[in-house]
Amino acid sequence: MAGEKAGFATRAIHTGQPPDPTTGAVNVPLYLSSTYAQEEIGKDKGYDYSRAGNPTRTALEVCLASLEGGLTSHVFGSGMAAIAALVTLMKSGDHVICGENVYGGTPRLFNQVFAPYGIDFTYVDTSNVEALRAAIRPETRLVHIETPTNPLMNLTDIAAVAEVCHSREVELSVDNTFMSPYFQRPIDLGADIVMHSTTKFLNGHSDGLGGVLVGTTPEHTSRFDFVEKAVGGILSPFESWLILRGVKTLAVRMRQHDENGRIVAQFLDGHGKVDRVFYPGLSAGRNAHPQYELAAQQMTGFGSMITIELGSFEKARSFTKQLRVATLGESLGGVETLVSHPATMTHAGLGAEGRAKVGITDGMVRLSVGIEDVGDLLEDFEQALAMV
Ligand SMILES: *Cc1c(COP(=O)(O)O)cnc(C)c1O
Repeated sequence: MAGEKAGFATRAIHTGQPPDPTTGAVNVPLYLSSTYAQEEIGKDKGYDYSRAGNPTRTALEVCLASLEGGLTSHVFGSGMAAIAALVTLMKSGDHVICGENVYGGTPRLFNQVFAPYGIDFTYVDTSNVEALRAAIRPETRLVHIETPTNPLMNLTDIAAVAEVCHSREVELSVDNTFMSPYFQRPIDLGADIVMHSTTKFLNGHSDGLGGVLVGTTPEHTSRFDFVEKAVGGILSPFESWLILRGVKTLAVRMRQHDENGRIVAQFLDGHGKVDRVFYPGLSAGRNAHPQYELAAQQMTGFGSMITIELGSFEKARSFTKQLRVATLGESLGGVETLVSHPATMTHAGLGAEGRAKVGITDGMVRLSVGIEDVGDLLEDFEQALAMV
């Protein structure tokens, strides 16, 4: 089995996934078993019931912990279920600070499910480290951020934020869905917990939902072990198997996403119908990202998430209606190029006022650039922009 010193792609393919000892199968089998035979009372082979543990799930959990550089990981039925499990670290009276421009489902979960239990949430622009420092209170226990943010691609300096959190004994969790551990490793930069919607780049094929929490302490391990068993929002063996399969190609997929993303961003940057491009990999020109230096420093690639401003809802509608290769739909991170309209999809729940506050307009379109032939993508965007 690949040791911790092996490279990223090697660990993605081998860690937690030795050949099956009974048959030699090179892939971890899909263990469709709810329960396990026990030799005698009190004596089992490490598994007793699949809510608490399943061998296919274990393989994925060991692999993902290694890729993020954590101690252990725990997978759940969706990204939202993983965030809900994260909140179980809190108790009534605790305070959580969340980035103000995160995945729309995160504040919905915090405000509409957990706030009524007496957990207090505040939203801060965490790209401003001083604003974060000022927002920390004696009862603050967790800071949860996303970088780059969805859909505006604002960055937060993970190392700087981790330092502020640790000086106040607050834990930092980072939703690393947009970059994947291939391009950004928050734990190396000081984060305590990494969260993903594995639905996106980790699985990469838009065919299964899932979420993960990667922890760094024995307390995280015992808490999330307990939450899997006690709450039960676990990832199914089949989805665990799909993600294991997806992760094997994460390195090559991310390299191609990144290459296509750079080419598409350059093209959009130079296009007269595109008012603005939000992409952390543009260093110069009219759409230079104000945090390009930070992006180049804390990420090892720029990914393939790009947001463009077309000027109005009508223009966004004409553009997205005209696409032939790219698909209009929610989600991101798959091999196929997906295009979404944040105002009516991912960020509809914020309301017009909430969107205006964070700067999301009706003319914005978000692209998740896939790994098709990039020439076909450019041609598709060109013909669709001609109709705007
Ligand atoms: C999709 C997404 C989530 C939610 O994950 P699900 O798997 O859809 O529940 C959380 N954070 C980010 C950044 C996402 O893109």
